Amino acid sequence: MANLSVSDAQACVLNQAKLGEVEVVELKAALGRVLAEEIRANRDQPPYDVSAMDGFAVRSSDLLNLPANLTQIEDIKAGDQPGKTVQSGQCSRIMTGAPVPTGADAVIRVEDTQLLPDGRIEITQSVQPGNDIRQRGEGMRDGQIVLMPGTPITPGVIGVLATVKCARMQVYQRPRVAILSTGDELEDLDDPFDPVKIPNSNSYALMAQVQALGIEPVLLGIARDDPLALRGLLEQGLKFDVLLVSGGSSVGVHDHVRSTLEALGVELHFWRVEMRPGHPVMFATTDSALIFGLPGNPVSSMVCFEQFVLPALRRMMGHSRLFRRMVTAKLAHAVKIRPGRTEFIRVVLERDAAGDYVARSTGTQSSGVLLSMALADGLLVVPAASSGLAAGESAQVQLLDGTFYQHESGMEVAA
Ligand code: AMP
Ligand code: MG
Repeated sequence: MANLSVSDAQACVLNQAKLGEVEVVELKAALGRVLAEEIRANRDQPPYDVSAMDGFAVRSSDLLNLPANLTQIEDIKAGDQPGKTVQSGQCSRIMTGAPVPTGADAVIRVEDTQLLPDGRIEITQSVQPGNDIRQRGEGMRDGQIVLMPGTPITPGVIGVLATVKCARMQVYQRPRVAILSTGDELEDLDDPFDPVKIPNSNSYALMAQVQALGIEPVLLGIARDDPLALRGLLEQGLKFDVLLVSGGSSVGVHDHVRSTLEALGVELHFWRVEMRPGHPVMFATTDSALIFGLPGNPVSSMVCFEQFVLPALRRMMGHSRLFRRMVTAKLAHAVKIRPGRTEFIRVVLERDAAGDYVARSTGTQSSGVLLSMALADGLLVVPAASSGLAAGESAQVQLLDGTFYQHESGMEVAA
């Protein structure tokens, strides 16, 4: 297999990641999903000209000679229908959101009025027609498309859906994801402590990476490095839309994942990518499943998830912004690397006095040191051709947190 760049491998994965089917969810469970239908306004919003303030509905022509002393004829609350027409010399008390009565063409805030001893309302300033009135339909017009298919459902979108009384809506299904760790050396969370074993962290870090995207994965536990045991668990995993296999995909004598998957008839697309950490990463498919063979080293596993699994899951969920947001940052110190592979360096971001991001390494960059990942705000991307960067030089940092995604991966594309 030719040397595959990160962006080529991403393109290969996304080519196989298919949009999920459509299902209907309740509004209360819709946060984080992606709309699969267009949503229209069911009426003008607001449905009448309404007051933008607590105050008095007046005829602006009454306020040309000041002060104007007006007689209050009605008290209109939001949700009330006004019953009286405001004539010259009159006003109606009105609350925010209440319909403006006929005859009135402006609202004056209660703060700009005075109650006279005889009960009339004294006004000492004039207003333009339309003052503090929200026009009928200024928020949305009856029948107007307010949300397009493909819209991610954020809290603001939930509010709009409730405004048009949309109690359930079509969204894209979330992929079903299974996670399997492999390795004789692994000890799981509940196993008794054995000083020579290695704690299974990958199942849980991957679980959390999946959960952070709004998907609840199924943990298939640990497969021992034995082709038969492995085969059984891989067969279970292939029933899911996405199977994440941790470890066992590289070239060690105990690495049986690739050969066992091939024996099960999967189509292998790639099994290494020119990146560091994460070189021994594998991607395969069946008719119904995407299979990611993630490197066993804990940092490599997480970094590969970020580059390949995350965009695939987001596409399947219906998102069009598939990639983590990239920001430009200045390096706080020099970094030296071996050229040839795209390098991901775990960094903390701060802002300098000028407001620019400054990136600083989280420390030891060994792919076995998970704390370097746990403490990182982002991954600084050093292009494959580079042999290092000087202090103060600018680079791209892929943010590891947050819900703002972008359309482009930001990875260098081979010329
Ligand atoms: P492998 O890819 O199976 O050769 O594993 C590479 C390294 O990652 C070894 O040191 C493993 O012990 C470690 N490793 C593999 N799987 C896990 C896991 N689930 N959790 C933590 N470390 C792991
Ligand atoms: Mg292993």
